[in-house]
Amino acid sequence: MQQGEKLYEGKAKILYATNDPTLVIQYFKDDATAFNAQKRGTIVDKGVCNNLISCALFQYLESRGVPTHFVRKLDDRSMLVKRLGIIPLEVTMRNITAGGMSRLLGIDEGMVLQRPVFEWHYKSDPLGDPLINDDHILALGAATPQELAALRSQSERINQLLKEYFSARGIDLVDFKLEFGRLATGAGQPPGPGQGTILLGDEISPDTCRFWEQGTRRKLDKDRFRRDLGDVEAAYQEMVKRVVGPAGSSTAATASGKPTAV
Ligand code: UDP
Repeated sequence: MQQGEKLYEGKAKILYATNDPTLVIQYFKDDATAFNAQKRGTIVDKGVCNNLISCALFQYLESRGVPTHFVRKLDDRSMLVKRLGIIPLEVTMRNITAGGMSRLLGIDEGMVLQRPVFEWHYKSDPLGDPLINDDHILALGAATPQELAALRSQSERINQLLKEYFSARGIDLVDFKLEFGRLATGAGQPPGPGQGTILLGDEISPDTCRFWEQGTRRKLDKDRFRRDLGDVEAAYQEMVKRVVGPAGSSTAATASGKPTAV
């Protein structure tokens, strides 16, 4: 697969064209941002970790019948994916209170929710990805009612599958963010609302999920960077071991061999 021109550079990834208009290369950088890019830094080998973790999780979801953009891993930092017209919505699924939900409702982090919480956020950096509801999306024509129903049921199934996957590896899946897109046509054109098959896109990684070690509640995700908790690289390496290693590897040591702070 030939790498072509740079199509898009985001905060953590770069998309490159290929010689096939329906396929693109997703390259993972080490750059880290938080709080709407007000905090910036580098997490050594984050790109390698997030590529490995995302490849493994997309393969797992595909094996359980969830349609994703994943085609195959190309190298340490890149995967080949189907070209999508990204729907400008972020789905957040929550199983335990943390982050935005705790701030919004003034509640402590760490409450196990009685049922998962599904949220839509409008994807907009200048606006800080505001929380929106179905009516906003339908009134603006960003997606059809059928698409919203499909996105919701796919997200709920993904949450169930990922919760099981991580639980078998000693990790509580606290919350995560998903992005979906509509599959581009033969010429690579992104379809509009109501057109094209919907696939899960983007990444699933410690940048986009909150992972807490079962029992200790040690944070193994980007909150270590956001909140200056230290041992950031070790947390990403630890998640690689948990995800890529066999189920039941819940007692895996940290990359440094030392336990890290909660
Ligand atoms: N998240 C993300 N990108 C964003 C915002 C959130 O990947 O732009 C992820 C985040 O890592 C967490 C989940 O979505 O796993 C829920 O984030 P939340 O709404 O609590 O916001 P935060 O506290 O991160 O600002």
